[in-house]
Amino acid sequence: MYYNANTIIYHNGQFVKAADATIDLYSQSMHYGLSVFEGIRSYASKQGKTKIFKAKEHYLRLQASALALNMPFTWDIEALETATYQVLEQNQLQNAYIRPMVYAPANMSFSKNSQSYIVIQAWQMAPFLGNQLLNVVTSSFQRPNPKAFHIQAKAGGHYVNSILASQEAKAKGFDEAILTDIHGYIAEASSANIFFEQNDILYTPQLGNILPGITRATVLQLCQQLNIQVVEGNFTPEQMQAADGAFLCGTAAEIVGMASFNTIPFKKPFPDTLGSIIQTQYANLVTND
Ligand code: PMP
Repeated sequence: MYYNANTIIYHNGQFVKAADATIDLYSQSMHYGLSVFEGIRSYASKQGKTKIFKAKEHYLRLQASALALNMPFTWDIEALETATYQVLEQNQLQNAYIRPMVYAPANMSFSKNSQSYIVIQAWQMAPFLGNQLLNVVTSSFQRPNPKAFHIQAKAGGHYVNSILASQEAKAKGFDEAILTDIHGYIAEASSANIFFEQNDILYTPQLGNILPGITRATVLQLCQQLNIQVVEGNFTPEQMQAADGAFLCGTAAEIVGMASFNTIPFKKPFPDTLGSIIQTQYANLVTND
């Protein structure tokens, strides 16, 4: 599904076959979740070129995540962007999901490493998730305490929380989980940020307890251009349950509308919401040349 016998990845400065690449089973990342990664997306542009959306922003976040976890990050951002385009070209990919990961060498202790390793993988991904509206539910799992983790870092270990929340929501028959923060305010979904709409204003959880999404930042920019008012703050699940509409946003999810929250349908049909306008604008933006 992710690779075949011919797939090429970038691994520590070399382009190698995915099937031949190995990692050390004594890696600190394997044992303790100390790794950082990105989820990036490339698109076939309107003129048919391969365009990576916000590559620089993603690699800068990868760097910031690594440094937050005391992992050495010695790579040049532009060189990583170039390597990523090469991975796409060598695998003849255009509409792809790109997964760079920085991981640690063999180390069974908790000590800082003098070196990190990097891998860039990519696989085919359809350009859109479709317009399937999501039925979401408040998770019994909260986002990690920001005093326990560098919550703004995209770290491997944090995703145990996402996996628990996502699997719980699906086991209950929902499409996705809405996690609250340690104070009970809505925070984010398992791998996407949240916006909801009330009386033509958008509301989104403030930074501090969430991953600062690159798509979230893009939505904020689009709202500014479109003169849509956005309020960033602390909002309860009850406030979101009473909303006119809502959507999730993330690199992989793109902009996806929600049908209901905690079984309560949103008041407006999604096509009549600001989320629908943002969805169209976002789809246009990512395929710009
Ligand atoms: N929150 C979490 C927990 C995520 O994993 C993601 C996906 N990276 C997002 C939000 C959305 O971030 P982005 O828009 O940068 O993909």
